[in-house]
Amino acid sequence: MAKDYDLVILGGGTGGYVAAIRAAQLGLQVAVVEKEKLGGTCLHRGCIPSKALLRSAEVFRQTQEANAYGIETENTTLNFSKVQERKNNIVNKLHQGVLSLMKKGKIDIYEGYGRILGPSIFSPIPGTISIEHDNGDENTMLVPKNVLIATGSKPKSLPGLEIDGSYVMTSDGALEMETLPASMLIIGAGVIGIEWASMLADLGVKVTVLEYLDQILPTEDESIAKEVEKLLIKKGITFVKGAKVLGETIQKKEQVAIDAEVDGVKTSFTAEKLLVSVGREANTVNIGVENTDIVLEKGYIQANKFYQTKEPHIYAIGDVIGGMQLAHVASREGVIAVEHMANEKPYPIEYHNVPTCIYSNPEVASIGFTEKEALDKGFDIKVGKFSFQAIGKALVYGETEGFVKIITDKNSDDLLGIHMVGPHVTELISEAGIAKVLDATAWEITQSIHPHPSLSEIIGEAALAVEGKQIHG
Ligand code: NAD
Repeated sequence: MAKDYDLVILGGGTGGYVAAIRAAQLGLQVAVVEKEKLGGTCLHRGCIPSKALLRSAEVFRQTQEANAYGIETENTTLNFSKVQERKNNIVNKLHQGVLSLMKKGKIDIYEGYGRILGPSIFSPIPGTISIEHDNGDENTMLVPKNVLIATGSKPKSLPGLEIDGSYVMTSDGALEMETLPASMLIIGAGVIGIEWASMLADLGVKVTVLEYLDQILPTEDESIAKEVEKLLIKKGITFVKGAKVLGETIQKKEQVAIDAEVDGVKTSFTAEKLLVSVGREANTVNIGVENTDIVLEKGYIQANKFYQTKEPHIYAIGDVIGGMQLAHVASREGVIAVEHMANEKPYPIEYHNVPTCIYSNPEVASIGFTEKEALDKGFDIKVGKFSFQAIGKALVYGETEGFVKIITDKNSDDLLGIHMVGPHVTELISEAGIAKVLDATAWEITQSIHPHPSLSEIIGEAALAVEGKQIHG
């Protein structure tokens, strides 16, 4: 028997479940189809579990450095199974929270694998959802007025490099490790590679990172990437840049060996385990896209600024449409999509105002153009930069590495880019986010009084530095 809905959401990750809640608030009758657990990659295989592990790594490192704060500790040891247990408890608690939000919103949850059908006996237009259940029950049919595809993405590998989950893994497998290896090779110095490199080094693992390009964190401002590299090298991490990993691994007894072309020379690298972090690919296979007029480009679903696909009643949001593959982007896209369905006239996202954060130690956060991007776009720029070394609260914290850099347009005074590396910058970036949304100038940032002592003073100082008027530097 088929059931009618205003909206069926395929995928209950951060994008999908947030969209479901907003749709329920708008009075739509909503169902979410999820093949695993509500919360998706962010909650179960991404943001939350990795940040929980990063926090344990931070506490372990700080405990080892406690003597510097006048606290004498001896024999700090790491119990990795307790670290994992803490992470799992956090994930479970948040998962329960999502389930109760679904209940509160009277949102129907269907467990199983959903596929979009073409025109059928249920509907003359594509969009009926057929749900295949694990327990062999007959498929459930849902007939919605609108569909939202929020099926997310999965880690990519390299050709010829088989992910076995125990020696060669992606971040999915790494999150489930029961014991820590003595050494780890990481392929790719993007966001995932750098967060894992930092965390593992803090937990005492010997880390080598192979990066194809000649800059780690290639999408970040060059000065930020250089600072991160410098500080991670201090932790003992080895970076090999310009290293094109060739793909085939040779598994030896308790080791993994892999070949890479470094400056044209074939070089072999060995470690106990190998983490592949070379990007993610959209989950578009086998969800019935071929039964519709939906257009794919390089594997990503094409959608307009309100996230309608070529089939106007089928929307798509999050990692499955590419662009900024971030949980906070997916959830906002989901809200905009359902508000558009409900004729609420939402504002489209201005992607250059979206903050990106990397939770390594040091943390990294940025909004807008890098210096190189601003110059390449032909802007005449001014740059203000200020170091944490001159910020009292950073000294109090014992974390004085890093800086904030503000790039403005010399002609209009518009903020073009704000880049940060150092303590708690993933929190500090929100001030820059507000400044960008309100179209503030650097001068306007200086007119907001920053409390003393606080780390946020660095933003006021960097804004003053745009005109060379910084006080403490
Ligand atoms: P990425 O695209 O950020 O980085 C991949 C890196 O691998 C690049 O630097 C690339 O040059 C390198 N690479 C590719 N092929 C290679 C090869 N053959 N040999 C050596 N290096 C190679 O991808 P990711 O780090 O896997 O992250 C995937 C997505 O998940 C990103 O979009 C990211 O934004 C998102 N994510 C975000 C967060 C966060 O917001 N904190 C955390 C984790 C993941």
